[in-house]
Amino acid sequence: MIPSPNTHRCPECGATYAALDDHCAARFDVLLALDHSHREPWGSRHGQAFAAYALQHPATHAASLDRAWLVLRQIYVSGMAPDRVFGALVAARGRIPPGWDVPARAARQVHAPAVTIADLGDFDAATYAGRLDDWCRAALASWGAVGA
Ligand SMILES: [Zn+2]
Repeated sequence: MIPSPNTHRCPECGATYAALDDHCAARFDVLLALDHSHREPWGSRHGQAFAAYALQHPATHAASLDRAWLVLRQIYVSGMAPDRVFGALVAARGRIPPGWDVPARAARQVHAPAVTIADLGDFDAATYAGRLDDWCRAALASWGAVGA
């Protein structure tokens, strides 16, 4: 197959797109609209989606990286329920909640993520929860997390 002349690659996460008006930020805007609709399965998972997107776009979301790392590691490595993770963070007012054993984030990604926002397609409700988990785990792994 001959690649489209419009094929381009995200410089941050490596996702490849076939049309110039298709890119990670455009897809994230679509996902944010679903998240903010407060409908399921998207609404309750906004925090995880934002964290995965931030970790995979570290130049764009530099200020959110430590919190994104903390949140996803606590959910996917330590096995804490997402609503408890976000509740504990609010209660701790920006500090690391007591009892959390989260290693410091690596200074930079160790490899490109195996799953990007492009792999989530149109965020179909039937498959979204599982695909979001895969995306989150890939984001963690790309920063060197073990056991996600
Ligand atoms: Zn990207």
